[in-house]
Amino acid sequence: MGEFPAILISKEGEKGQKAELTTLSDSDLMDGDVTVRVTHSTLNYKDGLALTGKAPIVRTWPLIPGIDFAGEVEASDNPEFKPGDRVILNGWGVGETHHGGFAGKARVKGDWLIPCPDSLTNAQAMAIGTAGYTAALCVLAISDNGAAPAKGPAIVTGAAGGVGSTAVSLLAKLGFEVLASTGRASEADYLKSLGASDIVDRNELSEPGRPLGKERWAGGVDSVGSHTLANVLAQTKYGGCVAACGLAQGMDLPATVAPFILRGVSLLGIDSVMAPREKRARAYELLTSQLDKDALDKMSTTIGLGDLMQAGEDIIAGKTRGRVVVEIS
Ligand code: NDP
Repeated sequence: MGEFPAILISKEGEKGQKAELTTLSDSDLMDGDVTVRVTHSTLNYKDGLALTGKAPIVRTWPLIPGIDFAGEVEASDNPEFKPGDRVILNGWGVGETHHGGFAGKARVKGDWLIPCPDSLTNAQAMAIGTAGYTAALCVLAISDNGAAPAKGPAIVTGAAGGVGSTAVSLLAKLGFEVLASTGRASEADYLKSLGASDIVDRNELSEPGRPLGKERWAGGVDSVGSHTLANVLAQTKYGGCVAACGLAQGMDLPATVAPFILRGVSLLGIDSVMAPREKRARAYELLTSQLDKDALDKMSTTIGLGDLMQAGEDIIAGKTRGRVVVEIS
């Protein structure tokens, strides 16, 4: 009764941890006013860090990881949701301090849920996932700050990853000339099929660079951080803007203020976890109106709960293409 499969991360020894596929029941869930039968989750970079223990993402032990999920409401004490409603959750500390989406069920605060748009299946909602929703937040941020196709190309770093693939596709659909920066030359055709006009070798950006360089792009979406972000800023055109959301290369930002004070460049910080509901609504509106379903298919692969441990290693090693949907059977 009420049993479901789940990935559980537990402490092992002084500093170690183990992640295993197990069976849990309703009584193992945490507090919340809505219980959801999870049909799909996804693997995000942060989930990879949690599964491998490479960074302190897990704050409560033991914990079901998974920072997002889509599913159907099973029981609700929240007036906004009733059994049978299809819902999505992104962030809010789920998969960090509260049991997350790598399980057959989740119990959460209704305030954290948004209705799944009618135009998306649960699987498509998770093909977008937190990475795709974050890409949309980035695209909105640079658009709100004046980036437009007529002003010049947009660069996307970490382009073959989850945030990157979605950003490439969205920006191309909005009419931007998209320069996709990748370390994987083998993904050039894939990125062009998503709408990239040209490929920039990751190595051009990942090493220490000059405070200011040739003005190459009007704006961009950076999921990589470190020297890459510093070089992206240094090569942004006068008055341009860059949205920064990630740290795949590193958390540091070895930059100077030159792009800001000599070219009026803006650096826009993006957080998806605690983003207010209005921002989320705008992001999903952009995604449902502009993200091609064909592109979504191209960028996503599907795995099961039992595949997550290997998939977690792969995403941290930078081997994952696009988005990984986790189907909960
Ligand atoms: P992915 O692993 O799918 O993509 C990251 C990409 O970065 C890789 O595919 C690779 O792209 C590139 N990359 C990997 N390692 C390096 C490196 N050492 N140097 C330069 N480039 C590298 O992750 P996601 O797209 O899911 O997430 C990307 C980043 O965004 C992560 O840091 C994640 O934590 C962050 N993020 C932040 C959110 C927020 O709320 N701020 C929400 C979601 C994600 P390629 O092979 O094309 O070079």
